[in-house]
Amino acid sequence: MSPINEEHPRKEIEDAIYAGDLPKLLRISGRLHGHYCSFSALGVKAGARAMKELGIRQSTGMEEVVAIVETNNCFSDGIQIVTGCSFGNNALIYRDYGKTAFTLARRNGQGLRISVRPDRVMAERSPEANELWERVVVQRRGSEEDQAKLKELWTDISFKILDVPDEDVFSIKRVNIEVPSYAHIFASVKCSVCGEDIMEPRARTKDGKPVCLPCSGQEYYQLAGDGLSILTPRAQ
Ligand SMILES: [Zn+2]
Ligand SMILES: [Zn+2]
Repeated sequence: MSPINEEHPRKEIEDAIYAGDLPKLLRISGRLHGHYCSFSALGVKAGARAMKELGIRQSTGMEEVVAIVETNNCFSDGIQIVTGCSFGNNALIYRDYGKTAFTLARRNGQGLRISVRPDRVMAERSPEANELWERVVVQRRGSEEDQAKLKELWTDISFKILDVPDEDVFSIKRVNIEVPSYAHIFASVKCSVCGEDIMEPRARTKDGKPVCLPCSGQEYYQLAGDGLSILTPRAQ
């Protein structure tokens, strides 16, 4: 790894984008994603394409550039690492459409939307990888050997897919969108039951006192593998 650049912590990534070094970006994405797969590789590829096409040299995680992702599958991790728009810096916006697509936009609304063409992606995979994927991932009944083989094939496919022309695997179009306002800084209030601090708009009232959502027993949102859902905690 390069030494830390305090002024520009993402310099290594942004230099690789403009040098067209997608394999390097994919390797870096593995630090976040934990494995190599075709959808994280496509996220890397789409992220780099959008950054270059919009001429974004530096993404500082201060919401001057935002990424709107339409899925929370592997694709989104490629997007986060390459664009610098992350779950934690509020520059990542999640729309629960269940589509492998994303839009990168500047604060003035000028952006690029890229969606994956799944038929073309499947064609890039080998029949062996598709069959193993079905057994290991979909049915969750692959042997250890199957899992190791799948990992090997996936890594191979992920790096190969980087060389496929963008237009073969993506639909790409310029868009002008309404970018959500900057994230607000909210005051904190203390839950009168558990004593933990809560961002003010998430506080509820119980017996006339502020309480957090889990202590209130009221509905809350959860983002998990299945997307967003509304849950109700057990009464406490
Ligand atoms: Zn993955
Ligand atoms: Zn509480």
